[in-house]
Amino acid sequence: MVNKEMALLGTQRSVIRELAEYGRVRAQEIGKENVFDFSIGNPSVPCPPQVTETAAELLANTDPVLLHGYTSAQGDQEVRERIAENLNARFQADVRADNLYITVGAAAALCSCLNGLVCPGDQIVVNAPFFPEYKVFIEKAGAEMCLVDADTEAFQINFPLLEQAVNPNTKAVLINSPNNPSGAIYSLETVEKLAELLEAKSALFGHPIYLISDEPYREIVFDGAEVPFLPSIYANTLVCYSWSKSLSLPGERLGYVLVGDQVEDAETVYAAVAGAARALGYVNAPSLFQQICSRCVDLTSDISVYETNARILTEALTGMGFRLVPPQGTFYMFPETLEKDDESFCRRARDMDLLIVPGSGFGCPGHTRISYCVPTERVERSLPVFQALADSYK
Ligand code: PLP
Repeated sequence: MVNKEMALLGTQRSVIRELAEYGRVRAQEIGKENVFDFSIGNPSVPCPPQVTETAAELLANTDPVLLHGYTSAQGDQEVRERIAENLNARFQADVRADNLYITVGAAAALCSCLNGLVCPGDQIVVNAPFFPEYKVFIEKAGAEMCLVDADTEAFQINFPLLEQAVNPNTKAVLINSPNNPSGAIYSLETVEKLAELLEAKSALFGHPIYLISDEPYREIVFDGAEVPFLPSIYANTLVCYSWSKSLSLPGERLGYVLVGDQVEDAETVYAAVAGAARALGYVNAPSLFQQICSRCVDLTSDISVYETNARILTEALTGMGFRLVPPQGTFYMFPETLEKDDESFCRRARDMDLLIVPGSGFGCPGHTRISYCVPTERVERSLPVFQALADSYK
């Protein structure tokens, strides 16, 4: 007898992975160039050359026993010092190495925070549209996910609904900006309003409501857009970061949780995050990549192709009659579908070998996610297919 819920999670692929797998099989049938696969969010640009050079240098010149050995559970001290220094320089923050807990990517950062914070009966509030794995992470941490419908005008926050959703059982609000799937960035005005709401609710209910800020796309912004640094705006913020997207290293699994000194009872919260990471069996984040990422912490992959693709698709799709909020970052956009049923719309697209993901899985029906971390040439060749899809609704 096994845990049925786990067996189900292990057999059911996510809609995104299902579609990507379909694309792989279809490419074998009709040729890769004839499949317009915009399903998955795997960075398409290489990591900066310095990452590879640093890896080579470390492998050649470091004692392999040290380099490949266990690090302390929270991450190597010097690694955390380098990251803290970078954060302090960029955000005029006051981060110490001991505020950082190095993790196996953002997914482990989120799971460590959630498992560290959640007590029986707790709820975690999430704004739509949201990264679908949140539901798995939250429920496995023992909490109930409480979904707030999207602000589909701008993909900021639907404040009247958020206000209603936050209640005495709310342990945290989990946000993601720049956002997967909308590509929107929460403005300073939005995050200040959010902070005000959470401060008022925390005072009303007599306990802190944490803000968990999932930020794997922090550096992937267009036109110099700013992503506010939340610990300076709302004290009880826990940041979950990752180098999966900014350095194009999703397979290497490196990120961190930041629990700044401004968090109420910060030492206990940090201890709970560390305890959760221990209980979940993460042991420590990959040692070699701790060294590499912390030495390359000032760098970002060349993300210009994402910005180019965003511009081409925004212009073209708008011209074809799609309604969309232009993305400000990430490598996703989230237009409205041309029929109410987003799954039917995406099936019609799939029949044209255009692979885009229904919005329902992101908690926002009537939309579709286009993941444009692909070569610009593929974006350009896909435009007639998008046009044919739009024409089929006329
Ligand atoms: N959060 C969001 C919003 C994501 O889009 C992803 C990955 O796509 C993750 C978290 C997980 O990132 P990581 O690969 O660092 O675990």
